Amino acid sequence: MSINRQKNYAWFRMGFEIVLVALLGVALFSKPTERHINKASWHNQVVYFVPTDQKVAALTFDDGPDPRFTPTILNELDKLGVKATFFMIGKQMEEYPDIVQDVIKRGHAIGNHTYTHPHDIEADTRTQVITELEECEKVIEKMTGSRTYLFRPPRGLVDGTVFTVAEDEGYRTILWTVCADHHDAPTPQAMAIRVLHHMRPGGIILAHDGTFSSRWKDVEATPLIINELKEQGYRFVTVPELLDMAKEPPTQLADGRR
Ligand SMILES: [Zn+2]
Repeated sequence: MSINRQKNYAWFRMGFEIVLVALLGVALFSKPTERHINKASWHNQVVYFVPTDQKVAALTFDDGPDPRFTPTILNELDKLGVKATFFMIGKQMEEYPDIVQDVIKRGHAIGNHTYTHPHDIEADTRTQVITELEECEKVIEKMTGSRTYLFRPPRGLVDGTVFTVAEDEGYRTILWTVCADHHDAPTPQAMAIRVLHHMRPGGIILAHDGTFSSRWKDVEATPLIINELKEQGYRFVTVPELLDMAKEPPTQLADGRR
């Protein structure tokens, strides 16, 4: 090897080593991105709200689809240009597939609310909980063409078994910041005031579009809640959109649950 070639080779090696050390430094000392932190830290977390500086809110409806209420709620949401998230019961989906298709067509998100909506899922065995989630998931996949990673346990009941089954099945357990339905809010107006009172940026609102005949109150409260919050500068997003906006891992905050 000539002296020149040897020199070139030495320079090349030095350059190579500098790049290698620089890359190692970046790998060792750089902070992970926010997204990285979120994804990693969200395990072992029940989501009650999503920490964000943006004035955003996620409106969610449980227990549908129900022909008495869901279509009217869908029309209200369309009129006001709001996308929401519907946590559906698998059995109800099978009974009212057209409503499910309407929910999808209008751009709303769908979450798993179990197959039969057991009254006390915490009393169920691990196998029963798995069946509840998987049977509902099958219906969701069949009707929407994709799976969901959102799970809301019936009545917000989450013990260790329910939570770990949800985690193992690839779900994020989503509860809520404020429930519009509450014994201290007997009218649609009172429900809207209740939501306003407990709301915060990144908050999740629970309302219902099924099961009880009293859900007409949720139907009437929906535009009131939306308009009041819009006046406060809020804009509405779906739960998947909200999760993407987190600037740090979600922490717990509850208004006293249901
Ligand atoms: Zn429910």
